[in-house]
Amino acid sequence: MRLTVLKERRAGETRVAATPETVKKLIGLGITTVAVEAGAGVASGFTDAAYQEAGAEIAADAGAALAGANIVLKVRAPLGTGEGEVDELSFIPRGALLIGTLEGLAEPSRAATYASLGIDAASMELLPRITRAQSMDVLSSQANLAGYRAVIEGATAFDKGFPMLMTAAGTIPAANVFVMGAGVAGLQAIATGRRLGGRVSATDVRPAAKEEIKSLGASFVGYEDEESKAAQTAGGYAKQLSADFYARQAEVVAAHIAKQDVVVTTALVQGRKAPTLVTAAMVASMKPGSVIVDIAADAGGNCALTQPGESIVTENGVKILGYRNWPGRICGAASALYARNLLTFLTTFWDKDAKAPRLPEEDEIVHGVQLTRAGAVVHPQLTPAA
Ligand code: NAD
Repeated sequence: MRLTVLKERRAGETRVAATPETVKKLIGLGITTVAVEAGAGVASGFTDAAYQEAGAEIAADAGAALAGANIVLKVRAPLGTGEGEVDELSFIPRGALLIGTLEGLAEPSRAATYASLGIDAASMELLPRITRAQSMDVLSSQANLAGYRAVIEGATAFDKGFPMLMTAAGTIPAANVFVMGAGVAGLQAIATGRRLGGRVSATDVRPAAKEEIKSLGASFVGYEDEESKAAQTAGGYAKQLSADFYARQAEVVAAHIAKQDVVVTTALVQGRKAPTLVTAAMVASMKPGSVIVDIAADAGGNCALTQPGESIVTENGVKILGYRNWPGRICGAASALYARNLLTFLTTFWDKDAKAPRLPEEDEIVHGVQLTRAGAVVHPQLTPAA
């Protein structure tokens, strides 16, 4: 059994899908060869020597790393024909199991390509949000770190402090920090804002989020009505709500946001562009020097003025940080947790006797993540019945 860890080549990707720690454990499962492409971990602080010390073999390039691979670990989808200088997909042997955040539903053509190449693909961002899957939940592990990092970068961009500073020269008031969207990233942003000494408030549409916000010591700001009482899907995600609800929510937010120093936006609605929660008029009402950190930039952004991938300053002096790939901005920790998520996935579906992965089709987790199997597209949302 040969497992390959490829270098990430997509723009701005700094993470890696295995660390020396997980390589050691993969070998412990009975995998005979773990091949790591040279330089794969460098951006995240893991040297080739550290992988070698853990038992891995270092391969000079993608072709050498993938020759004879049975399992391929990636953060992002491998590059295909015309996507970059290396056609990584062309080197993946038929029958190999490919595991990564492959964006299988957002980019449905990928599944068809994997099927035609005979690659069995598992798209880890599609993992069901169930208790059994928590330790392999890549969305949670990465969102948690994104929420932390967003507040740290917001605090750095803010030209005053977070805590109330009482000095002989006078007092600096605590920063008002407002977190919009209190899922995994938002709750970590609240906790981090509080740890830094900010006066934190937060909003969300899901009724369950209100208690979670309060339990972290932040105040809840938001609009609630009969519609928002049912704003959560069975899977725990926010539903798309009516235009009327969003208009009322915006009224409440508009009054609050003008008094905020740092606003962290994290709101997502599954399978859609991120909702616009901060309008241009709201930005115009904010004080010069205040900061908006838009973690939802990859999904289009929660602020109307966010330029995905950029940090900008508006005419009235508000900084808007719209970087992409927030977990990649804290890549050492993000890689460590992501690598453990993949290790847990493999360990959970490991056949000890065969010393090989075995993914039972009927398993809820497998059913959720598997895009292709034995040359066919099998994901329920990508098959003709869907
Ligand atoms: P997400 O990234 O999809 O969205 C982030 C947050 O934005 C959510 O809290 C959502 O309600 C909020 N939001 C959407 N529209 C909004 C609007 N107009 N205004 C304000 N907020 C808005 O969410 P997530 O962080 O992935 O978490 C989704 C849910 O899944 C949560 O309930 C979380 O607790 C749950 N979860 C469960 C597990 C598990 O049991 N294994 C693991 C992770 C998350």
